[in-house]
Amino acid sequence: MIKDNLNQIKASLPNDVELIVVSKFRPLEQLLEVYETGHRQFAENRVQELTTKYESMPKDVLWHMIGHLQSNKVKYIAPFIHLIHSVDSFELATEINKQALKNNRIIPVLLQFHIAQEETKSGFSTDGFQTIIPDLIKLEGIEIQGVMGMASLTDNQEQVFQEFSHLKSIFNSLKNSYFQNHPNFKIISMGMSGDYLIAVKAGSTMVRVGSLVFE
Ligand SMILES: *Cc1c(COP(=O)(O)O)cnc(C)c1O
Repeated sequence: MIKDNLNQIKASLPNDVELIVVSKFRPLEQLLEVYETGHRQFAENRVQELTTKYESMPKDVLWHMIGHLQSNKVKYIAPFIHLIHSVDSFELATEINKQALKNNRIIPVLLQFHIAQEETKSGFSTDGFQTIIPDLIKLEGIEIQGVMGMASLTDNQEQVFQEFSHLKSIFNSLKNSYFQNHPNFKIISMGMSGDYLIAVKAGSTMVRVGSLVFE
């Protein structure tokens, strides 16, 4: 049962690690079942599905965008999105900034980093992003609150731990340089159903769990 799954996952997390329920592909009834337990943080990876669910769910839900985001779709989520985890280019950050200002708000975002060995996962590469950070920080419509990443899909737990630790070290180096005076720069979004406990060991502050909640 969804409620039991949720309780088990929450019991396995330290108090300072936030659980985001990934509700992509799940029907509304199942989201409501989660909602009725008191949980409010949901994540989707497609703009269309996200806006449809936003319109159908109670208005106190906090919506997270975790999938690859095309610049031309930012406008649909800009009025209500709680946190965008998947900022992976300067162009995208600029567009989120523009839409935030249009909506008279500041949109919280995370910088997504490519930490896995697979080629397919998006995100900034570890080297090369440094040069654009000063320009990102100047964008007044976004607030960079941390980093996000996905580990390789592998049974090799040591490799997964190393990849998550790498993201944690990227976070630390950003925190100690550009974000020293940014108290809200404190989120490390890493860990999914199959690897969230390893992510927590490596320093995750926010896990994104789907299958384990609903199956
Ligand atoms: C789908 C997805 C998740 C959740 O995956 P599960 O294995 O179902 O827990 C987490 N993060 C991202 C970016 C996803 O696309």
